[in-house]
Parts: sequence; C-alpha cells; structure tokens
Amino acid sequence: MIPGSPALRQMPLWQTELARAITDPAELLAVLNLGPDWLPAARTAARAFPLRVPRGYVARMRPRDPGDPLLRQVLPLAEECLPAEGFGPDPVGDLAAMAAPGVLHKYRGRVLLTATGACAVHCRFCFRRHFPYDQAVASANRWRGALEHIAADDTITEVVLSGGDPLTLSDRRLCELAHVLQAIPHVRRLRVHTRLPIVLPERVDAELLEWLGGTRLQSVVVVHANHANEVDAGVRAALARLKGVGVVLLNQSVLLRGVNDRVETLADLSEALFAAGVVPYYLHMLDRVAGAAHFEVAESRARALMSELSARLPGYLVPRLVREVPGAPAKVPVP
Ligand SMILES: *Cc1c(COP(=O)(O)O)cnc(C)c1O
Ligand code: SF4
Repeated sequence: MIPGSPALRQMPLWQTELARAITDPAELLAVLNLGPDWLPAARTAARAFPLRVPRGYVARMRPRDPGDPLLRQVLPLAEECLPAEGFGPDPVGDLAAMAAPGVLHKYRGRVLLTATGACAVHCRFCFRRHFPYDQAVASANRWRGALEHIAADDTITEVVLSGGDPLTLSDRRLCELAHVLQAIPHVRRLRVHTRLPIVLPERVDAELLEWLGGTRLQSVVVVHANHANEVDAGVRAALARLKGVGVVLLNQSVLLRGVNDRVETLADLSEALFAAGVVPYYLHMLDRVAGAAHFEVAESRARALMSELSARLPGYLVPRLVREVPGAPAKVPVP
C-alpha cells in the first residue's frame, strides 16, 4: 500500500464512531441488559425504518429500563406498524414545495437545503422517515442546483442546511459550500440544523470549527435534544467549542409522549441546554407521519404544559410551541 493512499489516511474519529453505530436491535437490547421480549417487534419495525444509534448516545441510557427517554426515541416498537388515522408519508408537504432538487423555499428570505438523506441516529418519530432522498439531495453535483437557485434570488438572506443531518457530510464538501455561499452578496447567514453535536459530539472537531468559524457569514447551529439526559459532559464540551468560534446556538425539540411530556422534564431540558450555552428555540408538535402516532401529545395537553412551563422559567427559557402546516408562510404557533 502506498503511504498517503486513501486506505491509509486517518479517518476522522467521528466517521469511525458513525460507522460503529448500533444497527442491530439484538445488540442494542443486549448492551442495555433488556430481555429478548422486545426483539421480534423491533426487528419487524426496523424493516420499514432501520435502527441506528451511536454507541456514545446509548451510553447515556439507563440499563434495564425499557422506558428510558433516550431509548424510546430510537427503539423500533410494534406500535409503529399499526395504521393510524391522519398519519401519512409526507405530513408537511415538502415534496410539493421543492424549488430544485433538495431545495425547499417555503418561507420568505430563507431557503432550506436537504443536504443529505443520512443521519447519525434514526429517530422513530422523524417526519423524514419516508422521504425519497434519492431524488432530493442538494449536495449532488457539488450543490449546483441549490447554488443557482440561491444566487438568482436576492431576497434569500439565510441558507439553512438540513436533511437528514448535514453534518454527516464531510468537512471538505461543507467547506466547499460555505465558500461559494459567502461569495453570494445577499447571503448573510448560514444555519445548520443538526443532531450530531448531541448524539455524536466528536463531530465537532477542528476541521468543522475551521470552516464554520472562518466564514464571513454569521453562523447559527440549531441542535436537537428532547431530554436533559442527552446533554452530558461530552455534549457540553462540543457546544462550548462551537460557541468558542462565535456560533449562535439554539435548540429545537419535539414534544413526545413518554419522552418529555411532563413539565419537570421540559424545565430540566431548558436548564440543561442553557447551562451549555444553548437557547431553547422551538418545541414542535409532532408531525403526523405514519409510524409515529404513539408519540403524539394532544394539543390541549401541550398548551397546559406550556402555561405551566411559562410559570416556572424565565421567558427566554420557554421554547415556542409550533406546528408545521403545509402551505403556511412560517411555523404556526400553537396558542
Ligand atoms: C422550519 C423551516 C425553515 C426555518 O424556519 P424558522 O422559523 O426560520 O426557523 C425554513 N424553511 C423551511 C422549509 C422550514 O421547514
Ligand atoms: S432528520 Fe433529525 S429527527 Fe430525523 S432521524 Fe435524522 S436526526 Fe433524527
């Protein structure tokens, strides 16, 4: 083998961890000391949407507890296979809104790129679980369709990288994008919607900080944590590194039955996030995607939780409760 050839070059640590993620339900159950009772259903549900969870995230789960709030977000369950009225494959109307492959231009001034279909973790409640990414990633052809769309429309001031998880892409491809974007005069902000600093904090390494902190664009990273147990020392360190290069940090969560549908849990999450330098931004009502009905929290209950939360916390620690309505010009507040 020739020194310096791709096989010998050091793979970044985060890519190794990404590749080592647990994908076999039997292994996940064994690691957590959970009996085999859950296995047949997990295997069946995983056929529609595979299990995927990084080992470092599993390490934050309580062994022998099938109700663990982190486990519930990733373990395939029999409930996913039950049909549910009103739950479908594209609940937010993304396919109709696509301006170019992987380009969603639904809101004024902001364009959202589905950068990739890949994620480090498969969240069972995800509204993108049925999304046909093969036809719709913005990173294809070196971002060409997306860049043409953005350059041609000077009302676009912010580019939002979403997915999948955009930080599963290599820093080489992301750096290339940031480079071309910052040359477009009307683009001011680059926003990254990612769960990686939470589920695989090793992702926030020197290479990432270099392009994200080095662009003339203002950078905003919106992470996604749903429970305070997700925010451990490794996550806090990763978030501190982002903050250290001037990134503004926000969080979005999904309101999930059995995970965070109690006021104490939501308050603890806001406190844990803010202690790590992150401001709670949105709390999303579940998108009604097929397979996720068992996570739904009724709107009346959601409203009651929000008013209790507001009575406990400073206003800036109370996220905005919103839902996504196809065709609406913004996320719609739940009053
Ligand atoms: C959520 C979303 C955004 C960002 O909305 P903000 O309210 O600015 O956070 C932008 N574009 C699309 C298509 C979205 O779904
Ligand atoms: S897009 Fe986000 S919520 Fe959906 S599976 Fe990926 S990380 Fe989870």
